[in-house]
Amino acid sequence: MPPVTAAGREGVMNTANARREAIKTIQDRESVFSSVDYIHESMIDQFGSNVFSRSVMRTLLPKDAYRALIRCLDHGERLEPALADVVANAMKDWAISRGATHFTHWFQPMTGATAEKHDSFLQPGGDNEWLLEFSGKNLIQGEPDASSFPSGGIRSTFEARGYTGWDPTSPAFIVDSINGKTLCIPTVFCAFSGHALDKKTPLLRSVEAINKQAIRLLRLLGNSESQRITCTVGPEQEYFLIDEAFYNLRPDLINAGRALFGARPPKGQEMEDHYWGSIRERVLAFMMDAENELYRLGVPVKTRHNEVAPAQFEVAPIFEQSNVATDHNMLLMEVFRRTAQRHRLRCLFHEKPFSGINGSGKHNNWSMADDKGSNLLEPGSTPHENEQFLVILTAVIRAVNKWGKLLRATVAFAGNDHRLGANEAPPAIMSIYLGDTLGEVVDSIITGKVPEGSKVSKVMELGVSTLPELPRDASDRNRTSPFAFTGNKFEFRAVGASQSIAWPNTVLNTMVAESLDFMASKIDQLIKSGKTSNQAAQTVVKETLAENNRVIFNGDNYSEEWHKEAERRGLPNDRNTIESLPTLVSPEVKRLFSSYGVLTEEELVSRYNIMLENYIKTINIEVQLTLNLASTMILPAALQYQGNIASSIASMYQALREEDRPSSMQHDKLLKDIWERTSKLKFSIDQLEAVSKEADHATGDHLEHAKFYQQKVIPAINAVRAVADELESIVDDSLWPLPKFREMLYIY
Ligand code: ADP
Ligand code: MG
Repeated sequence: MPPVTAAGREGVMNTANARREAIKTIQDRESVFSSVDYIHESMIDQFGSNVFSRSVMRTLLPKDAYRALIRCLDHGERLEPALADVVANAMKDWAISRGATHFTHWFQPMTGATAEKHDSFLQPGGDNEWLLEFSGKNLIQGEPDASSFPSGGIRSTFEARGYTGWDPTSPAFIVDSINGKTLCIPTVFCAFSGHALDKKTPLLRSVEAINKQAIRLLRLLGNSESQRITCTVGPEQEYFLIDEAFYNLRPDLINAGRALFGARPPKGQEMEDHYWGSIRERVLAFMMDAENELYRLGVPVKTRHNEVAPAQFEVAPIFEQSNVATDHNMLLMEVFRRTAQRHRLRCLFHEKPFSGINGSGKHNNWSMADDKGSNLLEPGSTPHENEQFLVILTAVIRAVNKWGKLLRATVAFAGNDHRLGANEAPPAIMSIYLGDTLGEVVDSIITGKVPEGSKVSKVMELGVSTLPELPRDASDRNRTSPFAFTGNKFEFRAVGASQSIAWPNTVLNTMVAESLDFMASKIDQLIKSGKTSNQAAQTVVKETLAENNRVIFNGDNYSEEWHKEAERRGLPNDRNTIESLPTLVSPEVKRLFSSYGVLTEEELVSRYNIMLENYIKTINIEVQLTLNLASTMILPAALQYQGNIASSIASMYQALREEDRPSSMQHDKLLKDIWERTSKLKFSIDQLEAVSKEADHATGDHLEHAKFYQQKVIPAINAVRAVADELESIVDDSLWPLPKFREMLYIY
């Protein structure tokens, strides 16, 4: 029998052991071997092998059916029920031949995550027989019991049930799990009233809006070739990896996705030695394993590297059409989470898991392309191509100027508040970076003059002069801009790492659609009044640039001067979620969404409600966790240490003869320090508890409620953390219960 220890002492040992044990466990870990093999099956053969792609359909479907389906996909034609049966049957045979037993409609409700409910192909036939069945109806429509998904009030007003509807523009795929395979069918999710209850429906509608307006504009410019315009997106994804043994000792990471406590590590990112550093074997093993699954799912991941902060990484795919890019980014996050667990790691997508070092974002590279694959933001080599490029560029510049507040609101949520403007991510002021050369082109168009020493040889005349060579590499040097032109696309850098890209892209597409519409209408008017297309374009570009160029800024977006300058220019600066979200329900924005058929007023308002609720719930979880960890883990550790010092002083006094006892000792100061902080911790815990009770009982609408959280509750959370983090740096290390940043970020 082990010796019985004093109860208090045992507690101490457990705490000390937990962190030490975690480190020991991690030291003994080995890289996880997975049977990825590109020698016997090449990367190309593996790529897309779990996807019901066009090439699979071409081989499996009868010719007529295949052609009819492609017409539906490429030209938005209606899908006949008979055709759906044929496609469903081929899809089922393919899935079963690859070992699938179940299918699911895979959708993206307003939770921001993906949702799936699996059904097996099993069906009773006649005569006690069993069949594997999957009908066109199963493919096209599902009726999940959807009452528990957020609807922001829509369902209660309209219809209780929702349905999922096949989105044939994003291919079905098979998810391979350890004990079986599931056929996943990307779907949209709507109420029976037709109201969108998901993130994909409005995205698809916004692409339609862009298509319509862009084609109209291109026709006016004499382009008769492009038949269909889509949006292209390449989201670069940042994330952190930490070892599971540490993760399991951090209830805040488990429940809130971020560390609610933790002093700055002695070594942060100041040495700049992590960015693009050599990738550790264990991490590379994880990356390669996850990438292999993604290749098989047809997700074209391309780039991997270490990011700025310790334990931070990035993965970037090759761009795709925005709806597929959205699905693929959701899949990527799922596969990364799952694979990390297999490797005894945890993948964190929170915008700010560890304060004091860089947070994580998602750079949303965005452009428009036609059905021939030609990029509308590619500066051309002929004067005519230049004209089209400059008209489109002008439309985007105008969109960001006119709808900057709205664009900012697409990235407004609790997690991103820790990051935007925190001198690592772009500020909340929306501006555009064009780079010097393109900036000079724009200036010359507006002023009719060429600045001295400019690379622009003469005043740009649309359709006549060619653009100067735009340096690609130089165009990306400014990493501080929220919306940067990077050679042939724009990069929206304010998107948060955990966020679905569906919403930012929906808004971006809609506001650009409005701007294309504006340009087209103006050009059309001038043509009708007798101007040539070229003259009309020249006039409209010049006027529109002159009216909107305040949004262009090529300097350092982090600087204090820019904040002042932006204010002088009248650019909005909504610093946090609560300042920003109400933009969504302004009359102008309601009109914008409804006039382009992207969101009705009810749909928009419901989304706004969901976002406010999400804010309140997120902060509330953080409150509960802060109270819980501070009271049950941190305060006891601090008190224990306080007691240890007190008894050490007492025994020292006792051991000394009275005449030898000093009047004051360093020990006393230590005791006073810890005692003061421990009392302060208890005081701030009580304060937080009181203010959170007040928040519970607060009346008023969602916005008022959320404001209370932002103005009263968050400062109270911060006060608890501030003193707890101070304690972390003075309390005996062996008593500290939570793995420290210096461990979590470096030992894995
Ligand atoms: P960076 O210098 O930012 O790393 P990259 O050329 O590597 O630039 O591109 C970053 C991302 O932008 C990649 O995902 C890439 O596929 C994507 N991208 C490139 N061209 C386009 C485009 N026309 N539309 C959308 N995304 C694009
Ligand atoms: Mg980039």
